Amino acid sequence: MSRNENEQSEIIHAFREKSARARADAEARRAEVDAKFPEIARIDETLQATGLRILLAATKGEGDIKKRIAQLKETNDELLAARGEILRSNGYPEDYSDVHYECEKCSDSGFLPDGKMCDCLKRTIARSGFERCGIAKLVEKQNFDSFDLGYYTGSARENMEGVLRICRSYAEKFNGEEMQNLIFIGKTGLGKTHLSSAIAKEVIERGYDVIYESAQNIISDFEKEKFSRYDADLPDTKKYFDCDLLIIDDLGTEMTTQFTVSCLYNLINTRLINEKSMIISTNIERQELLERYSDRITSRLFGEFIICVFEGTDIRASKLRR
Ligand SMILES: [Zn+2]
Repeated sequence: MSRNENEQSEIIHAFREKSARARADAEARRAEVDAKFPEIARIDETLQATGLRILLAATKGEGDIKKRIAQLKETNDELLAARGEILRSNGYPEDYSDVHYECEKCSDSGFLPDGKMCDCLKRTIARSGFERCGIAKLVEKQNFDSFDLGYYTGSARENMEGVLRICRSYAEKFNGEEMQNLIFIGKTGLGKTHLSSAIAKEVIERGYDVIYESAQNIISDFEKEKFSRYDADLPDTKKYFDCDLLIIDDLGTEMTTQFTVSCLYNLINTRLINEKSMIISTNIERQELLERYSDRITSRLFGEFIICVFEGTDIRASKLRR
């Protein structure tokens, strides 16, 4: 089971528990009012009996069923009104002993009557994905809806429209099976992080396991793994190889040593061999990439990645000016 599936089944389990708890709590409140108000206890008994009678009338199909059921429902409504009145006059809310679900649509079970996942469960699963990925705050602000082409002008705008199209289609078509890799090249403040975050959001929402991490942090995990003296401190570097989509932010900000280059090569190459998708963003130019990393890495980057060049003037600066 992947981290994702594990987490999902835990969430679904928690939903089931929440739903059962809501019913148990309501049952306890009902027992409480039944004990306090004998009149309510009698009404509850009668309500239960009429409920059965309605069911019987419906299944037996004797005489004028519809009329019979309507009569029973009417009695039911009167009893409920009387019950509510007793509660109200004693300072209780009328629906005191009803079941209170947070989501009425799925009764907190997370699933609709037709077996489909309820939106509330989908949202919870996505949120936990963002949190696990460490980008809950980022995706809230930087997503496709908030991406503003208005910050780009002239040829930069035209270029950006193309990049945005590639990114949208990437997020839409991502299926965890066909490998697709993007490399974002451009100076700081031109929207690389924004679009990485936008893609991560959509892909996580569709249930895939995404890791979004800076090159520096990834390298530092590999270093800890290699040099740590205590097993307890060992980071989980396997996740970088296993996740459905690995987003490496800010390639080039890490220290370049033989060790870091070989780590990166190993990671990128292994994922390529296993046909697992990646998005890499970097603010160093093609020429510098060639100088900094071995041919082995750069030939991979330029051969197996769709290159998206980010142009324009620093958006963060323009935002401040606006
Ligand atoms: Zn729901």
